[in-house]
Amino acid sequence: MPQTLSATVLRSQCARILEAAGSTPAEAGQVADNLVLANLSGHDSHGVGMLPRYVDAVAEGGLTPNASVKVNADIGTMLALDGQHGYGQIVGVQAMELGTARAKQHGSCIMTLSAAHHLGRIGHFAEMATAQGLVSMHFVNVLSRPVVAPWGGGDGRFGTNPCCIGIPLAGAEPFLLDFATSRVAQGKMRVAHNKGERVPDGYLIDERGAPTNDPGVVVVPQGNGLFGALMTFGEHKGYGMAMACELLGGALTGGGTWHRPADAARTVLNGMLTVLIDPAKLGTQASFAQEATAFVDWLRQSPPGAGFDHVQIAGEPERAARVARERDGIWLDDATWGEIVAAGAKMGVTIA
Ligand code: NAD
Repeated sequence: MPQTLSATVLRSQCARILEAAGSTPAEAGQVADNLVLANLSGHDSHGVGMLPRYVDAVAEGGLTPNASVKVNADIGTMLALDGQHGYGQIVGVQAMELGTARAKQHGSCIMTLSAAHHLGRIGHFAEMATAQGLVSMHFVNVLSRPVVAPWGGGDGRFGTNPCCIGIPLAGAEPFLLDFATSRVAQGKMRVAHNKGERVPDGYLIDERGAPTNDPGVVVVPQGNGLFGALMTFGEHKGYGMAMACELLGGALTGGGTWHRPADAARTVLNGMLTVLIDPAKLGTQASFAQEATAFVDWLRQSPPGAGFDHVQIAGEPERAARVARERDGIWLDDATWGEIVAAGAKMGVTIA
């Protein structure tokens, strides 16, 4: 049965399963909070629906509960960190705590994080930085079955490689741009497939490289045992951006790039390059604050285009979703809820 659950109930249900899968109560709580926050933010693709996959990844040996980041190199303004296959929701936060402290101290920090298990919503990390008045840029690759086709190609060769830019705005909520370089996130295709929906033109190619509207082509193996693929956003430009994420998030971090046939592993590893800047140390803070605010106000004055009621700033849809879902609860489709219940059962945890 589809479920609508409060964030509080969902957090405690997920934490129980994560604890049974080997996490300390503190880790289980932090991972559960992060997943539920993704649902609250409107990104069900990166919410509690990932939990069954995490449980499988622990069993597979690709995700190590209670791991911490290891510092491989530290020259003050540059940090190279190894996530040691820990929960991304844990090692990602540890990495950001180290990086933001350095940016506060020196004015900037370039931080690499390799071998983190799935980092979830990358915007979470930019929100940590903007809360401290820092600009934060993230380039991420995904080591998992390659689900995105290169521009001009006919099969999946890389992941949904997200990119994120957070910019603090004086006296206002930050600009928080956080997106997959695929036309849509893979998890959104899982959600659409679970709901039995079709998707618009231009999102997908099937297992033979032909355009399709069936999200199932990237969720379940097709007749020939192969999967279809997602397209990148913005045609050749999105493809270029996705490639930059692979080169920066995968090659530069030391985490590695994807260049092998697909496998059926449940483990998802992310590599992330983060660039942090403290505007206070640049000496441009007054004009930064004034000019950024003036530009945002200028955008808001644009008359609504056809089909829109107003111009939004990146980050606003997520904040609006949080208000609505805290109030109304989080709706989970039948298949997603069933998978969570089954993941609990595997761990000897009964949830209802
Ligand atoms: P999306 O397409 O829903 O939104 C992308 C961005 O656009 C957000 O910053 C949002 O605030 C902004 N936005 C949306 N509507 C807007 C509007 N009308 N006006 C102005 N701005 C608007 O996001 P997505 O590409 O589906 O990505 C979803 C999430 O998936 C992200 O949090 C991303 O980090 C995450 N992700 C993670 C991984 C991973 O491996 N960890 C991989 C891919 C994606």
